[in-house]
This record gives sequence, C-alpha cells and structure tokens, in this order.
Amino acid sequence: RQEQYRSLRDLPALTLDGERISLNLNAGLLVDLPHVSETNADGVGLFRTELQFMIAERMPSTSEQEALYRQVLDELNGAPVTFRTLDIGGDKVLPYMQAVEEENPALGWRAIRIGLDRPGLLRAQVRALLKACSGRALKVMFPMVATVEEFNRAKAIVTRELSYLRKHGHVEPSSIAVGVMVEVPSLVFQIEELVRVADFLSVGSNDLMQFLFAADRENRQVAERFDPLSTPLLRALKVIHDSASAGNTPVTLCGEIGGKPLEAMALIGLGYRSLSMSPASIGPVKAMLLSLDTGAITAEMNRLLATAGDRGTLRQALAGFAAAR
Ligand code: PEP
Ligand code: MG
Repeated sequence: RQEQYRSLRDLPALTLDGERISLNLNAGLLVDLPHVSETNADGVGLFRTELQFMIAERMPSTSEQEALYRQVLDELNGAPVTFRTLDIGGDKVLPYMQAVEEENPALGWRAIRIGLDRPGLLRAQVRALLKACSGRALKVMFPMVATVEEFNRAKAIVTRELSYLRKHGHVEPSSIAVGVMVEVPSLVFQIEELVRVADFLSVGSNDLMQFLFAADRENRQVAERFDPLSTPLLRALKVIHDSASAGNTPVTLCGEIGGKPLEAMALIGLGYRSLSMSPASIGPVKAMLLSLDTGAITAEMNRLLATAGDRGTLRQALAGFAAAR
C-alpha cells in the first residue's frame, strides 16, 4: 500500500470533478519538515510551536524562537506555513514553568488564556514570528480561543508588535494573516462575528470533539464513545464552514479526523477544501479524493444530515456511499 501511495505522490490532489483539495501537514519540529516534499503536501497547515518549548530545559529565548521560525520558512522554501502560538498548559506542562494545580487541566489555564494573562510571553513570541517572517508571508493563529473578544485582544498584540518593529526599522512581513483555531464550542455560536475579524479559521476537531461531547480526548473509555461522524460534530462543522464561506474567510481543518479517508470524505461533502494532517495520512486521503465526486458527496451529506433522525452515527451510511463508487 505504501508503494501504491508513493505512486500517487506526483498526482495533483484533484477530485473526479476537478475540485482542488489543499492537503497540508501538521508539524512541530524541524525533523517533520522533510515530509512536506516527501508527500508533496501543499504546506504546513499547523505548526505547533509548543514543541520547541516542551523539549527545552529552559524557556527558549526570543532569538531562539525566531531562529527556529526562520529555519522553518527557509526549509519550506516558499510553501505556506501556519504557525500556532503556544498551546501549553492542560496536559502540556513545561518543566521550567511553575505548574498550577488544577482539577480539570483541559478546561483550565492554558494556551491563549496564559498568553493573554502573561502578555510578555505572547508578545515575545509574536515578535519572534514577525522578525522571522521579515519580507515573507506570516500566517499565525491562536489556540483555545473561547470568545471574539479574546481573539481581538490577541490580534491587538500582533498590531502592537508590528508597530514596535516598524519604529525600530525592521523589514516587516510581506503579508500578515491572523487566524484562530475553532476548537472551543462557544466560538460556533459567535461564528458570524468571528469571521468578520479573523483572517482565517482552522478547525481543531480534536478539541472541538472533546469539548462538544464533554469527553476527555485522552481517556479511551470515553473518547471512543462518541463518533465524529455523528450529527452533533458534523452539524457544528457545517455551521463553521458555511459561515466562513459566507464571510469570505478561508477555513481549514487540522484535527485528526482530516487524516482519515472516510472522515475527510465527509468534510469535503460539508464544503471543506483544505485539510491538514500527519504525513502518513496524505496518501490514503489523496487516494480517496481522486475517485470522489464533490457534487455527489455534497448531496449525500445534505441528505444524511437532513434525515439523520435518531441515528447515532452516519458512519455506516457514509461507508456505504464510499463502497458503492
Ligand atoms: C485540535 O485540537 O484538533 C488540534 C489540531 O490541536 P491539538 O491536537 O494540538 O490540540
Ligand atoms: Mg487543540
């Protein structure tokens, strides 16, 4: 199978009816980057910046952060990359940062919440990103945002750091896109306001699933109890996609479901045209979409969502659709 996928490497990611699907990789360290050319992915849809912090023995300095980001851009040689600011806290503790005892770390002081409460950390990271992207495109997004106000405050940090760098004569990025992870369900209910202020959305379906069903993603006993291919998540994903599309805001998805062929097929049926996944998923997902008709899967998804009734999951129905082609 690996051989068969390798033979797909040079084929464009086009559906049967000629829709181009953007396939990107999730990455976090320099060692992940060779996979982009190995798989012929379009770019890096999610660069998890916390990895550098998690493997370090002390807090990486601003210049160490900048050096890593610059290396990432150099290695990608013009392919797009979306950097996500620090997603720490919860289960991702840094040995050199004092941990706060929390009953529910996944629901606790983490990610953008730390970034906004300790703005020194977020400012330094944003400055490192702006400097590393001097003369090149910067795409940056924030994790675990729960309100539009939080997004606006985080975005204001980018604006502030940019004017600081300008004042000090630095060459600024050729373009700056400031986006947001959609992974806390509260954002689904502010989605129209959000698409007006965010330059792009990236759905974090791992956390969105965890918080939508109140089921710890790390706890197998409960994590496998609910199916992503059931109406609650699919309807949430549809609302997100349709609102982004109505607001002309690009939307992509970078959770694990984007790397599973049947789930990816459903996402294309919901309108998603950009996915980010682990390197091993590119082949299977590309194989799926080469024989997919987007008109047919769109009609099927709409029909299934409208007629789901009390069916727990649409997995069998979608597998049936996939097998019949
Ligand atoms: C997600 O939550 O879906 C996601 C992509 O981010 P992470 O897995 O790093 O939480
Ligand atoms: Mg997440």
